[in-house]
Amino acid sequence: MNDPLDGAPGEVSPGPQAQGQEVRKAVQVLRRGGLIGLPTETVYGLGADAGNAHAVARIFAAKGRPPDHPLIVHLHDFGQIGAWARQVPRVARELAEAFWPGPLTLILPRAPTVLDAVTGGLDTVALRVPSHPLARRVLEQFGGGIAAPSANPHKKISPTTMQDVREALGDAVDLLLDGGPCALGIESTIVDLSGARARILRPGSITPEAMQQVAGLDVGYAVDPTLRSPGSMSLHYAPQARVVLIPVAQVQQEIDACIARGLRAGVLSARRVPTWPAQIPWLALGESPAEQAQHLYQRLREADRLGLDVLIAVPPGDPGIGHAVRDRLRRAAGLGEAPHQA
Ligand code: AMP
Ligand code: MG
Repeated sequence: MNDPLDGAPGEVSPGPQAQGQEVRKAVQVLRRGGLIGLPTETVYGLGADAGNAHAVARIFAAKGRPPDHPLIVHLHDFGQIGAWARQVPRVARELAEAFWPGPLTLILPRAPTVLDAVTGGLDTVALRVPSHPLARRVLEQFGGGIAAPSANPHKKISPTTMQDVREALGDAVDLLLDGGPCALGIESTIVDLSGARARILRPGSITPEAMQQVAGLDVGYAVDPTLRSPGSMSLHYAPQARVVLIPVAQVQQEIDACIARGLRAGVLSARRVPTWPAQIPWLALGESPAEQAQHLYQRLREADRLGLDVLIAVPPGDPGIGHAVRDRLRRAAGLGEAPHQA
């Protein structure tokens, strides 16, 4: 039998609809303590057996991730939650019923058996049931939890295609699964249910309004998520280009300033203003908030491919998913979290 860890590094699955054989191979890699590139509906994950300390250590090494940045454990279904969380409040059940499988991560008090390496030494654990069909097949056949942070080097842009993972971490993974481009494009909403009140630590596609509507949950944003979520630092998702966030009315002035200083600038915005100089590349952010979330990281990568010194970005004004897009843009600019509107 072939040992998947003896195979060529960064081996790639044949096509978008990976075959059952690929799923079986991924499960073998996980069982042997290897790393897989795992497509999910949010972004691609760097997956390992969450119950294997050696495998989890490989995630941190591959990403260059500080050891106190905890990982999200991915499960196949809500029924597995008891093995990871020592308390499951009613609200967790309600949110899971409403949004799992899907882009919502729940922070709960950890079960004693959860590895310290997974939780970064915290008394809580992050759990999510993803909806991507390929991830679901791997999770079902594997049967355990898969620790999977985004498959990008620490602080860099999250991957939303298999090619992104291959370029950044291809040598570090034992098997890359191709699930096509990620449908949502930004990381999951993280909601902390371990305290007296539910708090959002990271905005995402599941909005507070949706949680209020579906589960009747009154959830606010954490005042300082970095205190409870050590991964949410102010510089993250950053391209090589310096990202400058400004309102659309000031773009022309910023373009002029860049040209005067001999800097190569581009503009990222929902719409192009016809008077902007033709030689300035325009990167279309997309019209709807969902589209903007889906394309954001690809546009940041495009800025690097174009060799831009400065990316002039016009943050969208929309609430809901728009808030999550602003949050990622602010971090790409090194400004930290977006001010909360409600
Ligand atoms: P990533 O999977 O790379 O998108 O990052 C995972 C995010 O989940 C980071 O921001 C972590 O800080 C956060 N996270 C994971 N576990 C916990 C936890 N137990 N408490 C708070 N935040 C967590
Ligand atoms: Mg990440």
